[in-house]
Amino acid sequence: MIISIASGKGGTGKTTIAVNLVLSLQKGTVQLIDCDVEEPNSHLFLSPTIHQVTSMGIPVPRIDESKCTYCGKCAKVCEYHAMTVILKNVLVFDELCHGCGACSYLCPEKVIFEIEREIGIIQEGSGNGIPFVNGVLNVGEPMASPLIRKTKEKIQKEKIVILDAPPGTACPVIETVKGSDFCLLVTEPTPFGLNDLELAVGMLERLGIPMGVVINKADIGDRKVWDYCDSRNIPILMEIPMDRQIAESYSRGIPIVVENPSYIQKFEGLFEKIENQIAVSNG
Ligand code: SF4
Ligand code: SF4
Repeated sequence: MIISIASGKGGTGKTTIAVNLVLSLQKGTVQLIDCDVEEPNSHLFLSPTIHQVTSMGIPVPRIDESKCTYCGKCAKVCEYHAMTVILKNVLVFDELCHGCGACSYLCPEKVIFEIEREIGIIQEGSGNGIPFVNGVLNVGEPMASPLIRKTKEKIQKEKIVILDAPPGTACPVIETVKGSDFCLLVTEPTPFGLNDLELAVGMLERLGIPMGVVINKADIGDRKVWDYCDSRNIPILMEIPMDRQIAESYSRGIPIVVENPSYIQKFEGLFEKIENQIAVSNG
C-alpha cells in the first residue's frame, strides 16, 4: 500500500503527518520515503542511521565533433531545448537535459555518446526500526524528478509505504504521488491554504488518485476549507489544533507521538480511515 502525503504549499505540517503516521504503525510493516529531494527533512524527526549512500546521475550527451555533420537533428528532437547547433558547434546545456536519450538514438551519424552527470544521492537506513530512504538533490540542481523516480525504486511493496512529497503541484509532486493508492493532503484553514488545496485536488483528480484531507492548525482561520471539502465530497480525515506543545516538540525535532503518546491513537485512527477510503475507491 502506497500512501503519499502532499500539500499545495510548504509549511503546512506535511512531514509532521508523514513521520507521526509512520511511528504510530506497527514496526516491520511500514517504510518511510522522503521524496522532497530539494529539502528533505523527515530524517530530522526519525533520526535514522544511514547505512548506504548511492550517487545518482542522469546520462547527458557528448558529441564526437570530428564525425558530426552539424545536421541539427539532435537539437530539433530535444523537447527540453538542451541542445543547439550553431554553425559548426553543438552545444549541450546539461542542466536542461532530462537524459531521455532521444538525441543519441536519432543522430544519423551515431556520433553522440553519453556520460553520467550526478544530480544527487539516495540515502538508505533505518530509525526506530523503520526502514527509511531519502533522495537528496545537489544544491542548485533543477532536475528533481529523475532523482524522485530513482528514490521510489526503493519502495518495499510488501510494506505500508509512506511517501513524503515535495510541496506544490509541479512535476516533482506528480512524480512522487503517481502510483499511490491514496494521497493525504495536509492544509491549513487560511485563504492560501484553501487556494493551494484546490490546486492539489485538481492535480490528484487528473491523476485519478483517491484523496483525503488533514487540517492542521484547525482552530485558526475560517471554515472555507471545510465548506470546500464538503462541496467536493473530499473526506476530512483528521484535524489537528494549533497546539503550543506540538510547535515546541516540532522545533526540537521530536515527533508529536513521542512527546505526547495520546496522539498514537489519533494517527492509528487516521490510518484506519485511509484504509477505508482505499477500500471504498476500489469498490
Ligand atoms: S544529430 Fe548527430 S550529426 Fe547531427 S548535429 Fe547532432 S550530433 Fe551532429
Ligand atoms: S538526452 Fe534528451 S533531454 Fe538530453 S539533450 Fe538529448 S534529447 Fe535533450
